[in-house]
Amino acid sequence: MKVRAQIGMVLNLDKCIGCHTCSVTCKNVWTSRDGVEYAWFNNVETKPGIGYPKDWENQKRWNGGWERTASGGLKPKQGGKWRILANIFANPDLPEIDDFYEPFDFDYDHLKSAPEMEAFPTARPRSKVSGERMEKIEWGPNWEEILGGEFEKRGKDYNFEGIQKDIYGQYENTFMMYLPRLCEHCLNPACAASCPSGAIYKREEDGVVLIDQEKCRGWRMCVSGCPYKKIYYNWSTGKSEKCTLCYPRLESGMPTVCSETCVGRIRYIGVMLYDADKIAEAAAVSGEKDLYDAQLGVFLDPNDPKVIEAARAEGVPEDWIASARKSPIWKMAMEWKIAFPLHPEYRTLPMVWYIPPLSPIQNAAAAGQVAVQDDMPDVKSLRIPVRYLANMLTAGDEAPVISALERMLAMRSYMRSKTVDGVVNIGVA
Ligand code: SF4
Ligand code: SF4
Repeated sequence: MKVRAQIGMVLNLDKCIGCHTCSVTCKNVWTSRDGVEYAWFNNVETKPGIGYPKDWENQKRWNGGWERTASGGLKPKQGGKWRILANIFANPDLPEIDDFYEPFDFDYDHLKSAPEMEAFPTARPRSKVSGERMEKIEWGPNWEEILGGEFEKRGKDYNFEGIQKDIYGQYENTFMMYLPRLCEHCLNPACAASCPSGAIYKREEDGVVLIDQEKCRGWRMCVSGCPYKKIYYNWSTGKSEKCTLCYPRLESGMPTVCSETCVGRIRYIGVMLYDADKIAEAAAVSGEKDLYDAQLGVFLDPNDPKVIEAARAEGVPEDWIASARKSPIWKMAMEWKIAFPLHPEYRTLPMVWYIPPLSPIQNAAAAGQVAVQDDMPDVKSLRIPVRYLANMLTAGDEAPVISALERMLAMRSYMRSKTVDGVVNIGVA
C-alpha cells in the first residue's frame, strides 16, 4: 500500500443557482491578464448543452474517439504511430479560440426601435465581436438557457443519448441544470502524461496538478490530452496554464476562491487518502459500468488504524491524516455515496465530484412524493432523467445515482418535517 494524500472537492449540484460568481471571482484572481482573456479556469455550464469549450464531452471530436477493448471496456483511440506522430507535429485535436466562446450581450436598442408588433419586443442576444444576432452564430456560453426554443430544435444534434429528442416540443418535460467545472486534479492526469516537456506535475503532498512555466514549451499536447478540456494556452506568453486549485491559499489554510465566494455554498473541500499502487489498475478496468466502483476502490479508510500506520510510514503529515479523518469528501463519496466523479469513463480518476441535482423538488412535493418519509418517491419521476445523470457521473450505471437521489430526498423530507416556517418542530426532532 502506497498511501498518498489528495485534496478533493465535492460540488452539490442541487444547490447551484448558476450565478457564475465562482467563475467571475476566479477570473479576477487568475486570468485577468493578456493572453488568457478567453480562459475560465472555473466555468458554469448549462446542461444538457454543448459546454465550454464547445463539445468538450464529444471525445470523438477532440481525441479521435473511443474504441472497445477486447474485454469490453473503452479506451481512447490512438490510430497507431502515424496518428501519434501527426499529433506531435500538427496536434489536430486542439480546440481553437472560436471553440471557447463568442462573447455576447443583448440587443437592448431593439426594445426602443422595434416596429409595431403583436407581441412585446425582446432584447435578443447579439455577438460582442461581430454585432450579429446570435441565432446566426448558433452558439455562445450558456447558450441553451438563452434560447430554449433553439435548444430544443437543435437538441437531436447534441449527443444527449436521445433524451432531448424524445421530449422535443414538450415544454413541460424539458429540463436544465448547472454544472460548474474546474480542473479535476486527476489521480491519473492525462495532461501530465501527454506533455513532451515534462512540465506538468502532480504535487506529492496534496495531489494538486500544476504546470511548471519555466519548462513549458507551448506544445499544447496537454490541451488536446485533457479530456475535460481544462488547460488553456496563453497566446501572450506561449505557455499553457490551468487551475492551480488556488494552492497559495490552500497552503495558508484558506479555501479556493471559487469555494469561498460560492453563493449557493455548494462546494466542499477535503483530504482523501488513496493507494497510489492501485491507480493504474483502476484506470485500466475493463467494463464501463465498473469504472465508478474502480475509482472508489483506490480510496483508503482514514479511520482504519492500518491505513493510518501506513500513511505515517509514507510520511503523510499528522495534520493531513487528521484532516482526512473528518473529510466531508470521504463522507459524501464513500460513506453516504451521494457524490460521484464526472465522466469516470475518461479514466483519469478525477477528484472533483458531484452530488446530482434532485431537479425541481417542488414537482415531486406537489405530487405528494416527498411529504412523508415512508412514502418514498420514485426518483424516475423527477424531471431530470436518471439516465442523463448516470451518463454524466457513473458511466451509465443508474443504480448508484438512484440510491443517492433517494437518500437526498429522504434527508430533505426529514428536515422539512422538522421545520415549519423556519421554526424547528421539537416534537419530531
Ligand atoms: Fe490534467 Fe485535465 Fe485532469 Fe486537470 S482535468 S488534472 S488538466 S487531465
Ligand atoms: Fe453555482 Fe456557487 Fe458558482 Fe453560483 S458561485 S454558479 S452557486 S457554484
